Amino acid sequence: MRTWEKNIRKVVPYVPGEQPKKAKMIKLNTNENPYPPTPNAKKVLEEFHTEHLKLYPDPKIEDLTRCISKTYGVKENQVFTGIGSDDVLALAFLTFFNSDDPILFPDITYSFYDVWAELYKIKYKTVALTENFTIDPLDYRQKNGGIIFPNPNAPTGVYESLDTIEEILKENPDSVVIVDEAYIDFAGPSALSLVDRYDHLLVVQTFSKSRSMAGVRIGFAIGNEILISYLNDVKYSFNSYTLNELTIRLGIAALEDKNYFEKRVKQLIHTREWTKSRLKELSFSFPDSQGNFIFASHPSKHAKEIVQELKERNIYVRYFDKPRINNYLRITVGTEEEMEEFIDHLKDILK
Ligand code: PMP
Repeated sequence: MRTWEKNIRKVVPYVPGEQPKKAKMIKLNTNENPYPPTPNAKKVLEEFHTEHLKLYPDPKIEDLTRCISKTYGVKENQVFTGIGSDDVLALAFLTFFNSDDPILFPDITYSFYDVWAELYKIKYKTVALTENFTIDPLDYRQKNGGIIFPNPNAPTGVYESLDTIEEILKENPDSVVIVDEAYIDFAGPSALSLVDRYDHLLVVQTFSKSRSMAGVRIGFAIGNEILISYLNDVKYSFNSYTLNELTIRLGIAALEDKNYFEKRVKQLIHTREWTKSRLKELSFSFPDSQGNFIFASHPSKHAKEIVQELKERNIYVRYFDKPRINNYLRITVGTEEEMEEFIDHLKDILK
């Protein structure tokens, strides 16, 4: 090792899902939405002028923040907007998790959480999910410096009721509790309805999944205005200009087209349920996923082999070589046609 290397901040980075550059493939590995965003996005692109490129964008992201606040019925100063929810979550870790006590999150969860904790040197402890991959709120009755979990959870897809979330909030009034709702639009009610009653709750959502804008990079957090003001202080201490003008306009277009959003979400839920039935027929078992993905395991063929054989047929799903889940495939819900083709190939592989 070179002498100058010794003081470098070394991290084991998060590994995002593969983005293969193939013309013909079925890509079910990164929980993207298979449908294009609102057709109004095209209009935004056509009307966008290069004049906008020479100026810094609005550091307060006021237009989009106002639109988010209206959509979700909260005050503008309760909304924080960032470059995808990864950016919002990374800043939330930096802002809110700064205790000598460990933060808590499930043992099976979004694999970015431990990466951020390591990066910022935040103490953390994982809390085992139950055998059915659910959260037992009693497990969160312990001293901690903060709590975070996705709902529905990733990669399991399990949705926890608002009662469970409220129990955790009530038990932990002195900790900031972050609920990562990346997939909430495909599931039950959002914890947003609890934000006004619990000032230590931060709800984080994204435009990447239900609004088909993973490539645009928009995420947001909603919480008590004091939480949001602390989050803004950290943002302005890091990078004032986050979302660019084009991103802001595309985000507004997505929010304004409520009908399109609802139609696509409904369609994906329908395809998810169709896929679950077919997987069941093929003897797969899986928790009752409420996301835009299914986390499935087969009794006679190992997930690793299935993933490999699918890949040879240009079908990509996600596999995690981790304790408790190394015999599961995480399958993103694609279009109806893609899922039919996927199931046909699975049948063939399992023959
Ligand atoms: N949270 C969870 C649970 C996720 O699965 C993802 C997607 N990888 C994200 C947050 C981040 O999504 P984005 O940055 O695209 O908003």
